[in-house]
Amino acid sequence: MNTSYQLDVDKIRRDFPTLKREVNSGASLVYLDNAATSLRPIQVMAQITRFYRDHNSNIHRGVHTLSVEATEMFENIRSKVGKFINAEDSREVIFTRGTTESINLVVNSWGRKFLKPNDEVIISELEHHSNIVPWQMLRDSIGIKLKYIPMLDNGHLDMDVAESMINSKTKIVSITAVSNALGTIIPIEKVISLAKKQGALVLVDCAQSVPHLKVDVQSLGADFMAFSAHKMLGPTGVGVLWGKFDILDSMDPFLGGGDMILTVNMDHSTWAEIPSKFEAGTPNIGGVIGFGAAIDYLNDIGMENIRAHEVDLTDYALQKMIDVPGITIFGPNLAKERGGVISFALENVHPHDIGQILDDNGVAVRAGHHCAQPVMNALGVPATVRASFYIYNTREDIDALVNGLSVTTDLFGVKS
Ligand code: PLP
Repeated sequence: MNTSYQLDVDKIRRDFPTLKREVNSGASLVYLDNAATSLRPIQVMAQITRFYRDHNSNIHRGVHTLSVEATEMFENIRSKVGKFINAEDSREVIFTRGTTESINLVVNSWGRKFLKPNDEVIISELEHHSNIVPWQMLRDSIGIKLKYIPMLDNGHLDMDVAESMINSKTKIVSITAVSNALGTIIPIEKVISLAKKQGALVLVDCAQSVPHLKVDVQSLGADFMAFSAHKMLGPTGVGVLWGKFDILDSMDPFLGGGDMILTVNMDHSTWAEIPSKFEAGTPNIGGVIGFGAAIDYLNDIGMENIRAHEVDLTDYALQKMIDVPGITIFGPNLAKERGGVISFALENVHPHDIGQILDDNGVAVRAGHHCAQPVMNALGVPATVRASFYIYNTREDIDALVNGLSVTTDLFGVKS
């Protein structure tokens, strides 16, 4: 066991009642689908209940006690999120429904205003669909050029191509920090420095990094960053777009409606200041407040400890899984080059069959294209099985995964 970090997994596990579940008539749940969504601790559930029980109200528009309390609770979480990612100003934190909406906000509010036909937008072959499709929609609507930094066979990006692709025509590089499909950690600082040399903006999809690694927006030097609460112990339906103040300020609203206006007349309206300009309508107030408890939980453990635990688990898993007959493990060889994600295939067994047999044995993994079809195309497979780890996972969970895989290989007669 790696003892150079402090993380009391037994204590943590007691906070996650879902881990006590049994599935398929008696198999203890081993939850290894954290890249899709994490579990939630009792502290987050209790905070959401507390809001609805004691403070339920709409925000920003009431003078009564509950509304003032709810507004204060909601805005405190904006500051908490700002501190968590070291934003200079908490008004740079926009609450959205998730990473997908955050990226769509940038594409529509920044892209439609500032991009012109033939301007170049650079993404990569490793992106989640939510960082591909909105840009394709913009391309088809206004005629920008969309270019992809290719993936190498080892799951890393081809940085030589990146270097030549990012040029004076590049207006924005929109790129993931960690691949959800393979776990690859992207050299994001290098990508940012290439973009900045050309005067281009950078959006970082941090859906798989903020939950697992310390992210400091000021030292990173990107212009936008997107992530989702539900992958970091918080509720579903809450996400964040962080952006540099002046850039957000220069952008047009994304959705129109209540809360995002200053004045409304019959013939025209004017916009509120950021962040309200981008938060039309009643937000997920209870969810944002629950997200605050998730951030407290992660802060109490410490992001460095979380990362160290995941490297330990990933390293252990890579060593154990390599001995499974007929296995191909995709992505970087070294645990330190990955988030806590392992994507794999077994010779002559369909990923969905693997997922099914693992589930019969209580092990929850994801089988499919992981919303990253270009990655599957590059690997030449229709799908993979993905096991992904978080703070409550243990080496015993990985042993359960490996046991489930040997049940599968026995059943399908896979030989090494
Ligand atoms: N980007 C990455 C890298 C992801 O892993 C995900 C979700 O899996 C998303 C974007 C989309 O996140 P959400 O569905 O929370 O909007």
